Amino acid sequence: MVQHSFGKLNNDVVGNNLCTACGACAGLCPHFGSYKDRVAPLHECTQPLGACEEACPRMPSDPEALVRAAAPQEMITQEMGPVRRLWVTRAKDEDIRNRGQHGGTVTALAAFALEQGLVDAWIMARSHDSLSGVPTVCRTRAQVQACAGTKLTSVPVVGGFLEAAFKDPGRFGVVATPCQCLALAKIKASDHPRLRQAAEKLALVVGLFCGWSFGHRELSRALSGRVDPDDVTGLDIPPSRHQSLEVFIKGRETSVPLSKVTGAVRPACAYCFDMTAEPADLSVGSARLPGGWDEARHWNQTVVRSQMGEDLLERANAAGILTLQEPPEGALEKLKTAAAGKKRTALKNLAQLSKNPDDLLYLPRGFGKSLSSTEHGA
Ligand SMILES: Cc1cc2nc3c(=O)[nH]c(=O)nc-3n(C[C@H](O)[C@H](O)[C@H](O)COP(=O)(O)OP(=O)(O)OC[C@H]3O[C@@H](n4cnc5c(N)ncnc54)[C@H](O)[C@@H]3O)c2cc1C
Repeated sequence: MVQHSFGKLNNDVVGNNLCTACGACAGLCPHFGSYKDRVAPLHECTQPLGACEEACPRMPSDPEALVRAAAPQEMITQEMGPVRRLWVTRAKDEDIRNRGQHGGTVTALAAFALEQGLVDAWIMARSHDSLSGVPTVCRTRAQVQACAGTKLTSVPVVGGFLEAAFKDPGRFGVVATPCQCLALAKIKASDHPRLRQAAEKLALVVGLFCGWSFGHRELSRALSGRVDPDDVTGLDIPPSRHQSLEVFIKGRETSVPLSKVTGAVRPACAYCFDMTAEPADLSVGSARLPGGWDEARHWNQTVVRSQMGEDLLERANAAGILTLQEPPEGALEKLKTAAAGKKRTALKNLAQLSKNPDDLLYLPRGFGKSLSSTEHGA
């Protein structure tokens, strides 16, 4: 019996706990709906090959082929996709640095790209309540700045992009987590007429490093009793040796042992192979500096991936928007080791889920094979 796209997404993705709630399906089709960090099938649909199936980051595709097609071969690394350059960066604007999660690089670059006319609008995650966010269209610097900071729950920004792309004129930039970047790369590479229409509106993708995200309800439950979840103004996860979740509450900071909240991590994140948002133009995460977390938390690591990303960074540097520094010695190797570790864990978990070591469900057979023969042990 032929399984329709709706059935595949419902059974293979949502039913297998693989859904990342990127919102691609809901942005393409009224048969799916999204609310906060959940995407749910609403009504049965019998389309044989819907755009939803083509765009879903957890339906089979070859992510390595997608990045290979977009970057010169000599820049592709096995561990973390294309790398032209790695920089340590932060915004020069103090107000942006204070609002930003780390160095405010993403907010500063996004505001600059808007003012330079490189994009007409950004799709970003704006706070909805203390622990969740909603996708929003930002057309002004003030709107971009209002989105600064990390929401550690899933925000369906791909759905937000698609909705805007089908409705509004202009070209968009998107700030996205790695799973969302994969959905955007699939949209760009697709021949499906509806996805081609959306892809024409996609000008720039700034990716965020991501270890995992929390489920909104689960995190709220895990925090209550320790802090009032409604009072939380921000969250952060320092490097793994700290084993803690930093919780900011109206100017005060407290720390919750990571072991008390890891049960709230979204199950789908166990199957994610990408830590550094490989298909983006630029990827941004927290820095690792010799002065430790107290210094590093105010800086970013920025991976330049595409020519477009390089041009944006150079222009922003020339215009005095960012401070750019050479990374400490060994920073790229450390990042590769961490990225390879995430890949190995995902491949192991996918093989366990399929109960067949060769069946990696949404990834092609043999994916990551070359990785296991490198020296970058997890
Ligand atoms: C779920 C999640 C997990 C992360 N895990 C790691 C990690 O393990 N290691 C690491 O180094 N970095 C991680 N990051 C990235 C990190 O938190 C910062 O976003 C990054 O360092 C950029 O900092 P900044 O100061 O430049 O960001 P800012 O200038 O504050 O800009 C942040 C941007 O991120 C967007 N954003 C916020 N939340 C979300 C979301 N849930 N989905 C999509 N976009 C969002 C906002 O719209 C804003 O544009 C994670 C981010 C997210 C969203």
